[in-house]
Amino acid sequence: MKMTELGKTGLKISRIGFGGIPIQRITAEETVELFKLLKDLGINFIDTARGYTVSEEYIGKALEVVGRKNFIIATKSMARTGDKLREEFNISKKNLNIDCVDLYQFHNVKTLEEYETITSEGGAYEEALKLKEEGLISHIGITSHNKDLLDRIIESKLFETIQFPYNPMERQGEESLKKAHANGMGVITMKPLAGGAIKNKNYSLRFIFEQDFVSAIIPGMASKEEAIENAQVGNNFTPLSDEERKVLMDEAKELGDHFCRRCGYCAPCTVGIDIPTNFLMEGYYKRYNLQEWATSRYNQMNPNAKDCIECGVCKERCPYDLKIRDMLKEVAKTFE
Ligand code: SF4
Ligand code: SF4
Repeated sequence: MKMTELGKTGLKISRIGFGGIPIQRITAEETVELFKLLKDLGINFIDTARGYTVSEEYIGKALEVVGRKNFIIATKSMARTGDKLREEFNISKKNLNIDCVDLYQFHNVKTLEEYETITSEGGAYEEALKLKEEGLISHIGITSHNKDLLDRIIESKLFETIQFPYNPMERQGEESLKKAHANGMGVITMKPLAGGAIKNKNYSLRFIFEQDFVSAIIPGMASKEEAIENAQVGNNFTPLSDEERKVLMDEAKELGDHFCRRCGYCAPCTVGIDIPTNFLMEGYYKRYNLQEWATSRYNQMNPNAKDCIECGVCKERCPYDLKIRDMLKEVAKTFE
C-alpha cells in the first residue's frame, strides 16, 4: 500500500483510507472481520464521525480485536462551542475506546458564522487545543463542503488537515487544496465517487490518486469486496490510460446537469431549505443503501424538500444551472 505523511502531522497513513459512514448498515461483528482485512490490505487510515450513529462504536470494537496500534483514527464533531465539543469528544472517546484520537476534526463547517463561532473565544477550537494539551487528541483538522471558506481555513493556519469533497465531478476546491498541500496541511478528500453518483469507481479513485496534492482518499466501505477493490488502487496503482480518462470524463459530463456539487451558492432559500443537504440525503438513501439513517436526517430538517414553494430564486444562483425545483420534487418523492 502506498503510504504518505499526513501533512506535517508526522502520521504515516495509507493513501487509500477507510470512510466510516457505510458500516452503519452492517453489524459490529462484520466490522471486526472487515478491519482484519483492512489490516492485511495495508489500509490504516480510518475516518469516522460522531454523527455516523454506530460507526464509532463498531470501530472501537474492531480496534479491540484487531489492535489499536495498526490504525490511525480520525473522527469529527459537529460541536461549535467549547462545552459541546468536550461533551461530544467524551462520547467519541468512549465509543472508540482509545486513549487518544489521532485526528479530531470540526465536521462540515458550512458558513462563515459557524467558522467564527468555532474560532472565537470560548469556541470549540479553544477546547480542542485543551484536549491536545491533555494528550487526548494528537492533531486538529476541519472538514467542509464550502469552497468560499477554504481559503480562509487555509490562511488561518489553525488546522493541520483539511477534508473536502474531490472527484472528477467536484473539482471546485482543487486550486485551494493545492495551496493547502503546499502550506503543509494534510489534504483528505471525501466523496471520491460524488456520493455514489459515479459508476466507474476504479477510474475515479485512480484519477484522484494521481493528484499529488491529495494525501488520502477515503471511500466508504462496508464489505470485503469493496475493501479489496479500493485497496487495489493503492497497492497496484496504474495511471489512467487516455481511453479510461475519456470514459470517466464523459460520465462526469453526463452527470453534470443533474448533480449538486454542494457549493452552497443557491443559499439562502426563500423558505430556509438547506438545498444541498436535501440532495445529499437523497444520495445516501438511493445509492448508499442507508434508508433509515437518511430518512431520519431528512425528517429532522425543517423545512425540507417538500416545503419548496417553487419561487425559482435558487435556480438563478446555481452556477451549474441545475433544475433545483424538479430535483427537490424528486427528493420529496423519495422520502414520502
Ligand atoms: S425554489 Fe424552492 S428551494 Fe429554491 S429558493 Fe424557492 S423555495 Fe427555496
Ligand atoms: S444546487 Fe447548485 S448552487 Fe446549490 S449547492 Fe448544489 S450545485 Fe451549488
